[in-house]
Amino acid sequence: MNQPARLQFTPNRPTMPPTHFADLTPEQRIAALGELGLPKFRADQIARHYFGRFEADTSTMTDLPQAKRAEVAEKLFPELMHPLRQHETDDGQTTKSLWKLHDGTLLESVLMRYPDRATLCISSQAGCGMNCPFCATGQGGLDRNLTTGEIVDQVRAAAAMMAAEDSRLSNIVFMGMGEPLANYKRVVSAVRQITEPSPKGFGISQRNVTVSTVGLAPAIRKLADEDMSVTLAVSLHTPDDELRDTLVPINTRYSVDEVLDAARYYADKSGRRVSIEYALIRDINDHDFRADMLGRKLHQALGPKVHVNLIPLNPTPGSKWDASPKARQDEFVRRVRAQGVTCTVRDTKGQEIAAACGQLAAEER
Ligand code: SAH
Repeated sequence: MNQPARLQFTPNRPTMPPTHFADLTPEQRIAALGELGLPKFRADQIARHYFGRFEADTSTMTDLPQAKRAEVAEKLFPELMHPLRQHETDDGQTTKSLWKLHDGTLLESVLMRYPDRATLCISSQAGCGMNCPFCATGQGGLDRNLTTGEIVDQVRAAAAMMAAEDSRLSNIVFMGMGEPLANYKRVVSAVRQITEPSPKGFGISQRNVTVSTVGLAPAIRKLADEDMSVTLAVSLHTPDDELRDTLVPINTRYSVDEVLDAARYYADKSGRRVSIEYALIRDINDHDFRADMLGRKLHQALGPKVHVNLIPLNPTPGSKWDASPKARQDEFVRRVRAQGVTCTVRDTKGQEIAAACGQLAAEER
């Protein structure tokens, strides 16, 4: 006879991390510090260390009473991310970090240094539930949402790295693991802390923050209503529903037209141009007629408020798909532009360190 079903202990089941300073509102920080017997002004003092000097180690916060530093560490600064591996490439200009979270979940972020800026690509979820077949993260499914603290601390770690190089982190893109708009509240809270001036946040300009989405239309509208001027990027990958249903499976819920309508609403409310992401996959979505249709639809839906970023596919291990040849890329760009839509091919940094979405974490697993 079969045994009755029992609850089983599964050691790999992700659990939420302990609360961190960046998870709390200013009032909650004051309350938490009050429980340790610390007065209100300590909250701002600690915020200046965290957001202004990128410190998460209370032993370096020497203006805090020494006797309290360990208690503050225990209550508000648990180690959220433990560095596992770091890869450098592009002559040291690109650094990809793999972190282990408190429950063993893997997380990655990529820092890209350019002559005029430094951009950090961050994750919003551990894994992803969107299941796009060309994306490494999509193959593993969703482990869990990241907390606000886990999102914000990726930025702090990179900002500290840049500060140590006498430079500054200037741009953030939510193009690492996960679908940011499927972890909406925590992502918006993180964006606020990334963009508020110190001591409330890191003071990175809203226009230098890009939130990239598969196109969750209702969440795009909600984001528009937050009245922030962050850049929205929509991963379209093809202008027709038939193919998009397979490349970006959530398209069966929110069609191309619905996504573009929501993008238009975002552009109108924010005053920002929307970026359209398009991974060019050889013989899959790189045809002339798709380039024409893409340009036409975008011009119609968004007029001048759109820019197309073509990304040559970075093939995931074991995939049968490949990037489109250079000549195909050039013709695709030409055709999109012919419809009056600006279009460029994304510079692909970090390919040899597997910096395409989720690849480093996938290798480690
Ligand atoms: N879930 C969000 C953000 C994470 S992915 C989104 O889909 O937008 C960031 C971008 O990288 C997306 O445009 C995604 O489609 C693209 N991408 C994923 N895997 C890729 C690959 N193997 N080659 C090229 N681009 C890829």
